[in-house]
Amino acid sequence: MVQGPVLVFAETFGQDFRRSSLEAVTEGKRIAGLLNTSLVVFTIGSGIKNTASHLGAYGVDKVLVADSPDLKTFHPDYYRAVGLEAVRKVDPGTILLPATSSGKDLAPRLAIHLNSVVATDSTKLDVEGGKLVATRPIYAGKAVLRVAMNSRPFIATLRPNAFTAKEVSSKKTPQAEELQFNKPQSRMTVQDYHPHAGKKMDLTEATVIVSGGRGMGGPENYKILEELAETLGGVVGASRASVDAGWRPHSDQVGQTGRTVSPTLYIACGISGAIQHRVGMINSKVIVAINKDPEAPIFGFADYGIVGDVFQVVPALTNDLRKYLGK
Ligand SMILES: Cc1cc2nc3c(=O)[nH]c(=O)nc-3n(C[C@H](O)[C@H](O)[C@H](O)COP(=O)(O)OP(=O)(O)OC[C@H]3O[C@@H](n4cnc5c(N)ncnc54)[C@H](O)[C@@H]3O)c2cc1C
Repeated sequence: MVQGPVLVFAETFGQDFRRSSLEAVTEGKRIAGLLNTSLVVFTIGSGIKNTASHLGAYGVDKVLVADSPDLKTFHPDYYRAVGLEAVRKVDPGTILLPATSSGKDLAPRLAIHLNSVVATDSTKLDVEGGKLVATRPIYAGKAVLRVAMNSRPFIATLRPNAFTAKEVSSKKTPQAEELQFNKPQSRMTVQDYHPHAGKKMDLTEATVIVSGGRGMGGPENYKILEELAETLGGVVGASRASVDAGWRPHSDQVGQTGRTVSPTLYIACGISGAIQHRVGMINSKVIVAINKDPEAPIFGFADYGIVGDVFQVVPALTNDLRKYLGK
């Protein structure tokens, strides 16, 4: 039986929480219910004291807040120190973190100090006979591993978009408690933080993604995808072929070695639909494929398929949508 509260790391983004953190909080709430224990969330940042109250909408009772100018951006040693302080206070049986860059860095640092292990990139959690079991896809989703642990606490990172963030009907203001931050010695210095220039939204948080593959023919042609994305209030993604060709940055890549996304609408333009691309976008609500090859594998799992040349179809679609949306 897993003893002790569920502790969740909620990562802030400016004055708000990342969607992946709200997913982890929602799952933490569900697991706490199944284990008949409490849920405590810890959050780290600068000027975020009021941000904690947003978590009331997700049924969180208690939030531990570490707020300091030194914690404005992720620092491996500082965040680890805060995480360990939260663990010291709560003595959790379970620790959940979003599998974002920060969560993936923080989880093993906590594990090594707590003499435990991490189930990384989990897509499902179950309670079986009082024990937690994490499901982790491996080999690009061709096999799944089910992981139970003998060590305590059970630590898992949760793949963004594999869980759903759900607000509760009875919102309340969570109890916020300050978490002591004693700046530890560190051999690392974060010199500067550069958010991705020109990117309106992180791919994993977007509700509309217009993705381009090798069929786009070159970096200059992504302009038509940018226009379609902008019309729909979305962002542009890419297949690995176009990233490897140097047409798009790696941060745009969707798939096994890129991002896992689950937008409401995913429009794949000139993308064949290889298994490694598919695993990153198959959870999209509606998939539209535009491809000139009627035999392209993507038509096998798209909700809507348009057989045609992207250079004719995409501008025509943008044009009609602009008229329809009055833009
Ligand atoms: C270990 C490993 C990890 C990988 N990780 C990823 C990953 O994370 N993400 C990823 O995407 N891939 C990944 N891949 C690569 C993957 O196997 C495919 O090679 C890649 O997804 C192909 O990209 P693509 O669909 O853009 O290109 P292609 O497979 O070459 O497809 C291009 C498509 O464009 C169509 N087309 C061409 N011209 C036009 C036009 N004018 N109009 C309309 N359609 C047109 C063609 O019919 C074709 O279907 C990985 C591979 C390996 C081995």
